[in-house]
Amino acid sequence: MDTEKRYALSLHGLSPSRVENVEIQKRRALKLMRSKSTMLEKYIFLAQMRTNNVRLFYKIVLDELEEIAPVIYTPTVGTACQEYSNIYPFLAGPGVPDGLYLTKDSHANLCETIKNYQPFADEQFQPDIAVISDGSRILGLGDLGVNGMGIPIGKLQLYVAGAGIDPRKTLPIILDLGTNNEAFRNDEFYLGLRQPRPADEEFYETVDTVLSALRTVYPRLMIQFEDWSSEHAFGLLEKYQSKMLCFNDDIQGTGAVILSGMINAIRRVEKENKVNPKDHRIVFYGAGSAAIGVARQIQEYFSSEHNMTEEESKRLFWIVDSKGMVTKDRGDKLAQHKVYYARDDNQGQQIKPLLDIVNYVKPTVLIGLSSTTGAFTKDVLERLAELNKNPIVFPLSNPATQAECTFEQAMQATNHRVIFASGTAFPAFTEPDTGKKHIPGQGNNMYIFPGLGLGAVLARPVSISDRMIYMTAKALADSLTPEETAQGWLYPSLQRIRQVSAVVATAVCEEALAEGVAQDTANIDGKSHDELIEYVSSQMWTPVNDAYGTSRI
Ligand code: NAP
Ligand code: MN
Repeated sequence: MDTEKRYALSLHGLSPSRVENVEIQKRRALKLMRSKSTMLEKYIFLAQMRTNNVRLFYKIVLDELEEIAPVIYTPTVGTACQEYSNIYPFLAGPGVPDGLYLTKDSHANLCETIKNYQPFADEQFQPDIAVISDGSRILGLGDLGVNGMGIPIGKLQLYVAGAGIDPRKTLPIILDLGTNNEAFRNDEFYLGLRQPRPADEEFYETVDTVLSALRTVYPRLMIQFEDWSSEHAFGLLEKYQSKMLCFNDDIQGTGAVILSGMINAIRRVEKENKVNPKDHRIVFYGAGSAAIGVARQIQEYFSSEHNMTEEESKRLFWIVDSKGMVTKDRGDKLAQHKVYYARDDNQGQQIKPLLDIVNYVKPTVLIGLSSTTGAFTKDVLERLAELNKNPIVFPLSNPATQAECTFEQAMQATNHRVIFASGTAFPAFTEPDTGKKHIPGQGNNMYIFPGLGLGAVLARPVSISDRMIYMTAKALADSLTPEETAQGWLYPSLQRIRQVSAVVATAVCEEALAEGVAQDTANIDGKSHDELIEYVSSQMWTPVNDAYGTSRI
């Protein structure tokens, strides 16, 4: 800020005389961040910068995304959530809220509380996108109660970085309904309510009141459900999906991202090994919200792109939970979301160990969403490599400590033939004999949800349809450059995330128009595909084009 501007804003004398450009500020911040010895210290440092100097923070996030994403999101955000009550008082600047904390309350009081959240003192807050969690299933780490706030905050940062949502239009929310995490309830530093979670009736009623209050205060708001336990995630989505502008990233976002990588994996084995798409046999290890969401999306792909009936496409899937292969005659009462994929052709066989399941099904594809480290053992991977020229293996559990196998393990056990994507980033693998380097695919939700949110903000459909989500997956699969495809990649480079988000957002706008549900059509209707991509890109916030002059933004 130059001297004149400092006088104009009555800031003269309040900082050292030197006037700096953002590049030098960025280099200083990076130097300090890199000097921190643990990832959590880096997280704390960046969290402080996020609230104190928004523009500089996003300049760094955007310019150094590959270095910064693992600090502000997985894997470090998992540690940050576990430690949230210990670090919270030292994260934001004085009097600066990091997000909106709601508890069970009356509609009127909730509206009041929501209005009271004004993180930017100098202007009225009008959010476009809220991410809301009840902290009941944070990543693969279980019930972290109010400590889950790190996730809505982290996701919204990725909306800004990935799709240029204006940071002043983002609303992170934790709905604190207590926690069933006993260790937290007994921890003197825990900052949330020290009570068990409510029964279902009270739960659904409370959520209903909260959503209604949010929409009363901000009628245009898009709401993203994040990290709700599976027992509620499906019910909430079913209840609200067609009634308001919302989606669940764990179910739908994950489904779309993984489908996209799967489309490219299936294309590859079809082209290189002549594997007919209809001959795939897909085993899901894990049967939670993520697994079922992914299975549904992949099934939709087979039905609509490969002309299979619902029954035919459903039979490509075998689901495994903590009790083994999910079958209709297993003898336990299956949770609602598992019933659809339960097998009835097992002739009384109840199979539990994964290796036995692999021998029985002979899968072409193995997907892990179980949060069980090392479940894809050497034996399992070797067997897959015997069964397939290029086995498709997606160990997707997060964070890395929960992954079913590492990239290195999958490469070694399959003679480097695996087609691989994981949930968290793994290091590249170099073949010891040839020096050939392989880059693992990362089924990062960041490929879809920021663009999906941007598309929803621009077209403002009445609700987000399954078809819109499906179209985002296809758009992502087609967004690779010829060079990326030639290298065998399943996903585009994350460095191009804003280009990718523009493609994804465009797919949402086009589908919303096609379905006749877009409410804001003036700027998007009548444009060609390329014009729409250009328009969508032009709507992205960047730290540099921002006109606001205060120091925080
Ligand atoms: P969840 O609802 O807790 O589901 C976990 C599932 O794994 C349950 O069905 C559970 O069985 C099953 N399971 C647990 N232990 C098992 C074992 N030993 N053998 C077989 N199955 C076992 O969690 P979620 O939301 O689906 O998420 C699962 C994982 O996916 C998490 O690690 C999460 O971080 C990850 N995830 C990744 C991405 C991504 O890569 N893009 C996105 C979202 C989620 P029961 O049903 O019998 O309990
Ligand atoms: Mn999640």
